[in-house]
Amino acid sequence: MIIPIYGYGEPVLRKVGEEVTPEYPNLKEIIANMYDTMYNAYGVGLAAPQVGLPIRLFIIDTEPFSDSDDLSKEEQTQLKSFKKTFINAKMLLEDGEEWSFNEGCLSIPDVREDVSRNERITIEYHDEAFNKKTEIFDGLIARVIQHEYDHIEGVLFTDKISMLKKTLIKKKLQNIMDGKAFPDYRMKFANKKGR
Ligand SMILES: [Zn+2]
Repeated sequence: MIIPIYGYGEPVLRKVGEEVTPEYPNLKEIIANMYDTMYNAYGVGLAAPQVGLPIRLFIIDTEPFSDSDDLSKEEQTQLKSFKKTFINAKMLLEDGEEWSFNEGCLSIPDVREDVSRNERITIEYHDEAFNKKTEIFDGLIARVIQHEYDHIEGVLFTDKISMLKKTLIKKKLQNIMDGKAFPDYRMKFANKKGR
């Protein structure tokens, strides 16, 4: 089921997510709804706070990135099949060189900015069956995970840009809060009731 995506300015996007227990109500259904909602909006990742839940859960499917021409065949193949659910993720290490990538966010439609992040991460998480894993990722996959991980820490990519750029997008962010944003997926806006 497709559910509304919470827009910039919604307080839940600023909460540090709580740990999820295996008994969390309707967890399987929540995850299924998040996948439906992410695919419907052509996203590559979605975090629980973006659908109104302040918990440490996010999902990723990098398939839409896989046909990018400036990637190696190997990277394309890797991105094509990378689909994962992260529960109670804990970032253990971010290292490697910092690099810039033009990021966007389903909660912040029509805003894209270059964000600098480390190339490689080591992350601990539980999968959907609550098996604990520790894995290393790099490149675009690490990038998407870092963006989604920020969501469960209450951080948005717009927090990571220069003061000047923040000033330049201020009006756009205000418009999103006021519900004056029109992506082709359902959203819930901070200052607009009844949608
Ligand atoms: Zn996002």
